[in-house]
Amino acid sequence: MAETEPRSDAVTMDKIVSLARRRGFVFPSSEIYGGLGSAYDYGHYGVLAKNNVKARWLEAMVQERDDIVALDSAIILNPAVWEASGHVAGFSDPLVDCRTCKLRFRADALDQAQCGRKPSKHPGETPDCDLTEPRQFNLMLSTRLGAVEETGSTAYLRPETAQGIFVNFKNVLQLARRKPPFGIAQIGKSFRNEITPGNFLFRTREFEQMEMEYFVPPAEAERWFQYWVNERYDWYTKYGIRESRLRVRPHEQDELSHYSSATSDIEYLFPIGWSELEGIANRGAFDLTQHTEHSGAKLEFVDSATGERYVPHVIEPAGGVDRALLAFLVDAYDEEVVADRERTILRLHPKIAPVKAAVLPLIAKDAGMVEKAGALYEDLRRRHVVEYDDSGAIGRRYRRQDEIGTPYAFTVDEQTLADDSVTVRDRDSLAQERLPIGRVREWLADALDRPWATPKLA
Ligand code: ATP
Repeated sequence: MAETEPRSDAVTMDKIVSLARRRGFVFPSSEIYGGLGSAYDYGHYGVLAKNNVKARWLEAMVQERDDIVALDSAIILNPAVWEASGHVAGFSDPLVDCRTCKLRFRADALDQAQCGRKPSKHPGETPDCDLTEPRQFNLMLSTRLGAVEETGSTAYLRPETAQGIFVNFKNVLQLARRKPPFGIAQIGKSFRNEITPGNFLFRTREFEQMEMEYFVPPAEAERWFQYWVNERYDWYTKYGIRESRLRVRPHEQDELSHYSSATSDIEYLFPIGWSELEGIANRGAFDLTQHTEHSGAKLEFVDSATGERYVPHVIEPAGGVDRALLAFLVDAYDEEVVADRERTILRLHPKIAPVKAAVLPLIAKDAGMVEKAGALYEDLRRRHVVEYDDSGAIGRRYRRQDEIGTPYAFTVDEQTLADDSVTVRDRDSLAQERLPIGRVREWLADALDRPWATPKLA
């Protein structure tokens, strides 16, 4: 095997943006019209990878457990929901305007913002800066419902999926016949009119969340809070995120939301520094109590055996699909020099990788190889997302698969024509082995099922 020279930690956000663009994972949205700040469209590989992130979450949260059920609630809810939840009154960030450069900044993050003047400084640091007093800016995006503009009513695009879960508490309790501890899990789009979106997929105005509300007897809340912090941390490491880049940061008392008695963030060391990947909050009885008061529906649990009744407390792990995908891409990104040639690799976990295997005829003009490779591809694609490629030199085709993170490549060559064996190339180690073409399907299924750890060192 060729000498390899790892060049880990060459990752920057620019390189991720450029690879995502070049290989069709993520494009700037409405680009032919000049784009729309911090809005992105997912291309083919982006969709496949993002769906894998969601599928792994649903497996862990719903499929592999008896105590959590799924939900898909509406994006536009009765506006009374947002009154009750406190979002109309309090879901806001402090905003300041600069009268000179006309830009807007988050008052609590001026040290991370750039003033519009050159040489660029933080807002408030040049003599020309003329900042207004901070005022609260509500982050909910509103819309009008109804055919007639003037008489339509104002509604909101949900800023989180959680409230759709709380308002369905009674339905699930009765119809899914659950008793605490039990959970309701939901994946879906949320919308926030962020003052300072940016850093690629990290902060956008439209994004997807994966949230689960876990309803527990009040006395058990603290134990379940710890349990969910550990579970969620383990989920990220299971799918390859290096532990050296992951940490749990408990919130300080003054950081806690009004409803929370404890919150811990799982943070990832993004190229922009340690930042929240997912938050786990102990929300107590706040949400069910608020919705009981505002709707009149009694959201409580009554034990039919003992007659005991109580309002369950809620533990909420709330993560972002796009932010998780960004962390998987950043963590997987690698560059190395192999036999004097540079290659860029996404060392993605096989279960996150958009394409599981490539099938390649060594010589694209060889009808025998093309036929055998085509038949293998048709067989594999019925079970997995696989790709067939016969365009260009084999080295270029391998590099293309490395860049989209395809863990395995099966190559049909001269020897295949003689003995029906193929080579399988491992993306990370570049090791090659031969196996009978008839065994490839089983080999791939086993390989995708094996526990996997990133080959990247700390
Ligand atoms: P932040 O402090 O980064 O604004 P938050 O604490 O407001 O996040 P939560 O309300 O806890 O975020 O939302 C849960 C998760 O949803 C976050 O951990 C993140 O993964 C994701 N998320 C929240 N806002 C955005 C956004 N604007 N763009 C992308 N993902 C987001």
